[in-house]
Amino acid sequence: MTNKLRYFIANWKMFGDFSSFRIIQKTNQYLNKEKNFNKKKIVFCVPYTLIHFFKKKIKSKLISLGSQNCHHHENFGPFTGSISASMLKKIGTEYIILGHSENRAEGETNQIIKKKIASSLNQKLKIIFCIGETYKDKRNGKTFSVLRKQIKNSLEKKFDKNKIILAYEPVWSIGTNKIPKMNELQDIIKFIKKDFKKIFKTNKFPKILYGGSVNHKNIHLFSAINEIDGFLIGSASQSSKKFIDIIKNYYK
Ligand code: PEP
Repeated sequence: MTNKLRYFIANWKMFGDFSSFRIIQKTNQYLNKEKNFNKKKIVFCVPYTLIHFFKKKIKSKLISLGSQNCHHHENFGPFTGSISASMLKKIGTEYIILGHSENRAEGETNQIIKKKIASSLNQKLKIIFCIGETYKDKRNGKTFSVLRKQIKNSLEKKFDKNKIILAYEPVWSIGTNKIPKMNELQDIIKFIKKDFKKIFKTNKFPKILYGGSVNHKNIHLFSAINEIDGFLIGSASQSSKKFIDIIKNYYK
């Protein structure tokens, strides 16, 4: 069993109200009772409307709060309906998901994502940067080239890479109950780690999460891949039981 730091990051998407705090409370109770001391970081990326309320209630040092997107303009501005990284930072956001495929599908480009990453880094937020190929890309053998382009066109050499966690989320796997073949997944994670090092001429591998239809029944398959530093978990994180069972079963 690994004793490396592992991330379990909940992406609640458009889910939750004030009463959903019980999911965080139950997760915290589980973490406090746990006997094995494997290092883990738990982050709940919740809707904007809940950050401030949850921040005031959270007592745990083991759990952080994250947001799921922001406007690329860093501070206040004439952008109706938008929220900036500085506004999120002020209310207690520590992490931020950027480049999620559900936002790319709404027209978010690599250039816009780059600006969002820059403004979030300026605000000292930790970035969860999502990349992933569509099913069509996969079928056409373009997975590696798509991933490379997303990384190259959204990250800059000057960005502090220690503050950026990559999340490999194949688009065809999100919310579909389909997961990659483990040997293919391992190759892709290795490719991303190596390519990242090459592109940015760094000798440090980036942290990489996997995301897409992770649940308590399939998590044991992923735990065999040591190169995966953690998970971005969507629908299964909307239930404390399912989320906690994922963490428990990972270490079984
Ligand atoms: C996600 O949206 O980031 C995600 C991983 O979703 P799901 O776990 O529901 O596939």
